Parts: sequence; structure tokens; C-alpha cells
Amino acid sequence: MYVNDGVKQLFQSQDPSAQTDFHRLQLILFIAPIAALVHFLLIPFFYYTGVAVLAILNVFSVLIWVYGIWLSKHNRINLAIQLFSCEVLLHSVVVSYYVGPDPGFQYYLWAMSSFAVMDTGSSRFRVFISAVMLVLIFALLNVGLFEPAYELTLSEYLPYIKLANMVIAGILSIFAIMIMRGFHLRQQAELKELATLDSLTGLINRRQGRVLLKQAYLLALRNRHPLTVVMADIDCFKQINDRYGHSVGDTVLCQVAKTLQSSIRKSDVLIRWGGEEFLILLSDASDLDAEKLLAKVSPRLEQLYADDEILESPVTLSFGIAQWHPDESIEQTIIYADNALYISKQKGRNRITRAETPAAENMYDMQPVESR
Ligand code: GH3
Ligand code: MG
Ligand code: MG
Repeated sequence: MYVNDGVKQLFQSQDPSAQTDFHRLQLILFIAPIAALVHFLLIPFFYYTGVAVLAILNVFSVLIWVYGIWLSKHNRINLAIQLFSCEVLLHSVVVSYYVGPDPGFQYYLWAMSSFAVMDTGSSRFRVFISAVMLVLIFALLNVGLFEPAYELTLSEYLPYIKLANMVIAGILSIFAIMIMRGFHLRQQAELKELATLDSLTGLINRRQGRVLLKQAYLLALRNRHPLTVVMADIDCFKQINDRYGHSVGDTVLCQVAKTLQSSIRKSDVLIRWGGEEFLILLSDASDLDAEKLLAKVSPRLEQLYADDEILESPVTLSFGIAQWHPDESIEQTIIYADNALYISKQKGRNRITRAETPAAENMYDMQPVESR
């Protein structure tokens, strides 16, 4: 399906109204060519069945649908939808006036009612009234408002024509709702992503991080597994920003995040805790395990910009490690890790410090939680 690049760019933008327009355009680009084709095929049909006036009416209908496609592609979607509503209304009334309800052309009014509510430029009340009006006129035409002025010569085909019109109108209606359903689901997923992920690095944000910390804590408490928290902070990051600019700073942040993420297990959690601060939650790992891991990660981080032409000195991080003890809250462990990080900074940065906590040597001797 062809979608012009301007609207595609709008869709990729963060603007929700632009994304709605993309979905409405997608819908119009599906429905309008079908409508134009149906009207085009009706020209010879009405001409040969002896209702020339309806053949001429369909010429105008084709032009309106084609014009509506043009309007939509030029970002005038609301006007196009209003135009389509008028066309369907006029067409259904005129066709019913000439040939009565038997061919079933009035069913397009029913389909158009779910399409008309997508006019986001008009008020809710106006949109509701327009859609109800379409349904009411459908109902009136369907019960035979007019005595047909003509009798179609191909009257034996009437049931099939009616069947085709009902099915096409129904499918168009379903399609309109499917598009909106897709839009709704995508928006839900995007909202979830916005609420849980950091937009720069793609890491879990602090808000969601707190939820995961709580879950990991409860799991460790239940299963009696060790749990270790690492606080990591990029050294002298302000200088990087000041010297090379904020966008270089952003790139460094993303690279560091990527390196940290690729160094931990899938079951571990890496959180962007603050500006240039990360929290790593290592499940089933002691503070000594964490220290061993970080001893391997540190050189990898230093290596990132070692031969870089822009950054003159390598990027380093300071770390603070604290192992959680079942007698303390996870918040307390984070404070211990933070204090250890502070010591790393004090001692000259680019180093790893293990917190002096009421260590967990005896935690494995404790009774399982359930039997306490
Ligand atoms: P230290 O070694 O003591 O941690 O020093 P520092 O310069 O890293 O720490 P400081 O707290 O003085 O500065 C942190 C800087 O991080 C300041 C802030 O502008 C920058 N920062 C925070 N978030 C972002 C971000 O998303 N992008 C960029 N480019 N910079 C950020
Ligand atoms: Mg820092
Ligand atoms: Mg900091």
C-alpha cells in the first residue's frame, strides 16, 4: 500500500496526532480505491440496466472518491471524510429513490457511520449526530422509504447484488474498526514502553527499576538466594559534556549502557538510575561474584574510547557493591552500595568498592522463610 513519505515521517515522529493521521490515511487508502472501483463498475451496470441517471451519478461518485484520496494525501483527512460521508449519503438516497432498497446500496450508509466517527476535526457531538443520521437514513431506506421509480432489467440478479453490497459494506466496516484496534494496541505498547524504559539508552528506567528490585528481593527472600546491588557512575562525566558537547555525552552514555548490558546475564537487571548513574541488580550472586564481574567489565569500558579521535582520555566508571542481607530492606542495600560508590570516588575514581555491610556469611544457615 502506498503511503507518501511525509505522512510516514509523521508516523515515526512522537506526535500522537500525527500517528492517528497515519492510521486514518492507511484506512482511507484501503477503502477509497475500493469505493472508487465499485462506483466505476456501477457505471456500465446502471447504463445497461436502463438507469442512465444513476450511471452519471456514479461518474461523479468516482471523481469524489479520487478527489478525497488526493485531499487525504495532502493532510486534509477530515475534509475527505466529510466529503465521503456526503457522497455515500447522497448516493444511497438517490439510488434508493430510483431503484428501491432491493439492491442493498443503502448498506454503505451503515458502513459509513463507523467511518464518519474518524473525523477528529469536528466536535464529538457533531460526529455522533452525523453517524446517527447515517444509520437512521439507512434504516429508513432499508424499510422502503421510496417507491422505486425504475425497475431494474436485471431484477433476477437483485439478491446477489444485495448480498455483494452487504458483504462489501460489512467488510469495510470491520476494516475501519480493525485499523483503530491496531492503533489502540500500538499506542498501549508505546505508552508501556514510555513508562518503563529510558528513552535515551533504552534501559529500564528508575520507576520500573524499583518494581523489578522489589520482585527480585521477594524472590531472593523466598528462595534464599543471594542478591547483590551495584551502583555505577561515570567518572567526570560533566567534563565530557563540557568539553565535547551534550550529544557526545549522550553517545558515551549509550555506549556505556550497551557495554554494561552485554556484560551481565539475562536474568540480571541494568537500570538507568539517574543521569550518568546505573544500578545493576545481580540475582543469585554474592558481592565477591559482583567484584569479579566488574573487574572484567572495567577494562572493557576503558577500552571503549581508548583509541578515540574525539575523546582524549578513556571513559571510566566507579562502582559500589553491596550484597543484600535477608534482615535488611533492598532500599538499605542500595544505600550501602551508594556509600561504597562514594568511597570509590573519594579514593580517586575508576575503582570498585565492596560495602562494609552486616555481611551475609550466615544467611545460608537461616531457615527457609516459609518454615520460620
Ligand atoms: P563524578 O566523577 O564525581 O561522578 O563527576 P561527574 O562529572 O560525573 O558528576 P556530576 O554529578 O558533577 O555531573 C554529572 C553530569 O551528567 C551533569 C549532567 O549534565 C550530566 N548528565 C545527566 N544526564 C545526562 C544525559 O542524559 N545526557 C548527557 N549528555 N549528560 C547528562
Ligand atoms: Mg559521575
Ligand atoms: Mg552521578
